[in-house]
Amino acid sequence: AAMREERIKKTKTVCTYCGVGCSFDIWTKGRKILKVEPNAEAPANGISTCVKGKFGWDFVNSEDRLTKPLIREGETFREAEWDEALHLIAEKMTAIKEESGPHALGFISSSKCTNEESYLMQKLARGVIGTNNIDNCSRYCQSPATMGLFRTVGYGGDSGSITDIEKAGMVLIIGSNTAESHPVLATRVKRSHKLKGQKLVVSDLRKHEMAQRADVYIKPKPSTDLVWLSAVTKYIIDQGWADKTFIDEKVNGFDAYYKSLEEYTLEYAEKISGISKAELIQIAKMIHESDSLVVLWAMGVTQQLGGSDTSTAISNLLLVTGNYGRPGTGSYPLRGHNNVQGASDFGSMPDRFPGYEKVADAEVRAKYSKAWGTEVPEHPGLNNHDMVDAMHNGTLRGLYIKGEEMALVDSNVNYVRAGFEKLDFFVVQDVFFSKTAEYADVVLPASPSLEKEGTFTNTERRFQRLYQVFEPLGDSKPDWQIIMAIANRLGADWKYEHPGEIMEEAAKLAPLFAGVRYDRLEGYQSLQWPVKEDGTDSPLLFTDGFPFPDKKARLFPVRWTEPLEYEEQYDIHVNNGRLLEHFHEGNLTYRSEGIASKTPNVFLEVSPELAKERRLVNGTLVRLTSPYGQVVVPVHITDRVKGNEVYLPMNDVNSGAINLLTSSFADKDTDTPAYKDIMAKMEIVKEK
Ligand code: SF4
Repeated sequence: AAMREERIKKTKTVCTYCGVGCSFDIWTKGRKILKVEPNAEAPANGISTCVKGKFGWDFVNSEDRLTKPLIREGETFREAEWDEALHLIAEKMTAIKEESGPHALGFISSSKCTNEESYLMQKLARGVIGTNNIDNCSRYCQSPATMGLFRTVGYGGDSGSITDIEKAGMVLIIGSNTAESHPVLATRVKRSHKLKGQKLVVSDLRKHEMAQRADVYIKPKPSTDLVWLSAVTKYIIDQGWADKTFIDEKVNGFDAYYKSLEEYTLEYAEKISGISKAELIQIAKMIHESDSLVVLWAMGVTQQLGGSDTSTAISNLLLVTGNYGRPGTGSYPLRGHNNVQGASDFGSMPDRFPGYEKVADAEVRAKYSKAWGTEVPEHPGLNNHDMVDAMHNGTLRGLYIKGEEMALVDSNVNYVRAGFEKLDFFVVQDVFFSKTAEYADVVLPASPSLEKEGTFTNTERRFQRLYQVFEPLGDSKPDWQIIMAIANRLGADWKYEHPGEIMEEAAKLAPLFAGVRYDRLEGYQSLQWPVKEDGTDSPLLFTDGFPFPDKKARLFPVRWTEPLEYEEQYDIHVNNGRLLEHFHEGNLTYRSEGIASKTPNVFLEVSPELAKERRLVNGTLVRLTSPYGQVVVPVHITDRVKGNEVYLPMNDVNSGAINLLTSSFADKDTDTPAYKDIMAKMEIVKEK
C-alpha cells in the first residue's frame, strides 16, 4: 500500500478550456489521470468546475500526439531529430531575413500557451529577428473589447473579480452564451439571480440558457447592439438619471458625447434593432433603479464590423451611470481561451510591448532595446489579418505559428489556406498534427499545459501558476524551451532554466506587472494586475480614478456601422459560437473520450418556422453556401433560434465548417474578423 501511495501524485493546475481560469488538483498515477479534484482555495472557481475541466484531459495521452519534429518531404513528412529541425529553421529564417529583411517573417503566438511563452515569442520576433510582426488569436475575438476599454477607461481587462459579479444589482449580458462558454462564471450569475434578487437582462440572437433565465430577454436584429445601447444611454440622460456627480468628478467629454447621441432616439432604435420602445424604456428603468450594474459581453458583440464601437458604447453606458470603481460594477469582456488575456498582456501584439506599453513610444523602445541588446524597430508590425494578405502579395515569406489552428479558426479559411501555400517557409508548433500543420515545412512537437510550468492570466486579470503533472511525452518540449532553442540557433544567448526567470525579466520591464513573482504565486496564491513592486495587486480597478494623466475616464463618441450588404439569394443569417462540451475547433476535446462521446458531430440549429417553410426535419442534410464557400451539415430544429437566423457551432475539428462561409471583412478598428456578419443560402442535399 505504501508503494502505491508513493506513486500517486497530486498536482495543482489551471484549466485551459476557458478564460474563467478554474484551478484544481489533478491526481495521477504514472501517466494515468485518476481524478480532477476542485479545491476550495481556488480563487476563481472554489469547488466548481465544468465538464471540460473535469473530463477534458485524456488528450495528453492520445496516440495522435506529436512526439517528434517533422520535416516536409514533397507531399509528406518524415520524422527528424530536434537538431536537424532547429538547424533547418535557423537556416531558412536567416536566409529570408537576409534576402527580404526582417519584416518578411511573421510570428503568431498562442492564447493557450503561458504568459512566459507569449513573452518569449515577442522577444524572438522583436529582439532576435527585428520585426514587430507578432500577434495572437485575441485578434479573432477580444481585441475590439480591449479597444473599447482603452478608449474609455484605460485598462483592457475586466473591471473587477469574477466574485464581484455576484455583488451587482443588475447584470446585463450581451452577445455571450455564458452558460456554455464560461460555465462556472455563469453559475455565479444564476445563483445571485435566483437567491439574491439580482436583475438579469440578456440581449442575444439566440435564446440560450441565460436568455431563458433572464428577467428581460431581447433579440435585436443582427449587428445592431450599438444602436439600442446608445438609445438606452440617451434616454437615461434625458430622464435626468445620469450619475452627474460621477461624471463631473471622474469623466471627460460629456458634452461632445451627448451631442453624438442625438440621432439615437427610441424610435430610431426600434426601427433599426427591432427592440420595442417599451422594452428599451424598461431596460433603462432597470438600470436606473439598480444600485450597481455589470455588463458581460463576448463575441456576439466583438466579431462584427463595428465590434470596437459597440464595446465602446457599453463602456460609455457604464460611465454615464457611474458604474465603475465599486464592487458589482464595470465591464467584463469574457475572454474565451484560458490565456487570451495573458497573450496580449505579454506583448504578442504588433503595436504593444508587455504591459501594453506602445512600440511607437521611443522611451519604451529604448528600454527594451537596452535590456535585450538589440534595436527594436519603430513601426508597428502586421497583425495576423494583415499577415494573410501579406502572404498573398509575397511580402511575408516565412511564418512561425505556435499553438494556433489558423487553417480552421480564421475567417474565410479558403483564403487563409491559399496564403499558407504561398509561403517560402512555414513552421507550425503544436500538440497535434493540426489542419494548419498540413501546410507546414517543419512541425514541432509541443507539450500541453499538464507537461509544463508557467502562469496563465484569466479573464479577471488574475495570474495563476500551473505545475508540471507529467514529463513531456516522447520528444515533445514545452513551448518556452522550443522558442529559446530557436532564438539561440539564431544567435541569441538565452539561458532560462525555469519559466520563473522569464517572468522575473518581464516584470522588471513592464510596470503593470512590477510585483509579479513566482514566490507570490505559490500553490493557489494569485495576483491580479496591476501589481505594484511590493506585491500589492488590484482585484478591483478604478477605485482611485482611471489610468490617464488626469485620472479621468473619457466618454468616446461612436457611430453605428451597418452590416454588410448581401445579394438577395443569401437569405439566411448564420450565427455561430461555442458548445458547452467542446473547446474551440475541438483538437483537444474531440480527443477526450469522456467529451467526444457526448457531442460527436456538428449540426445546424434551425428555427421551427424555417424548418416548416423549407420542409426540414431533424437530420436533413443541408448545404449552406455563402459568397466565400460552402458546408454540408445536418439540421437540428430548436426554438432557441428564430426565423431565418440559424446557428452553427464552431467546434468542428474535421472541416472547420463555419469558416468556410465567413468573409475577410473585419472590425474597422482592430481587424477582428466579422465572423457574426455572414449570410448564406440553404439547399437540401439529402432528405432524412
Ligand atoms: Fe472552469 Fe472554464 Fe475550465 Fe470549465 S472550461 S472548468 S468554466 S476554466
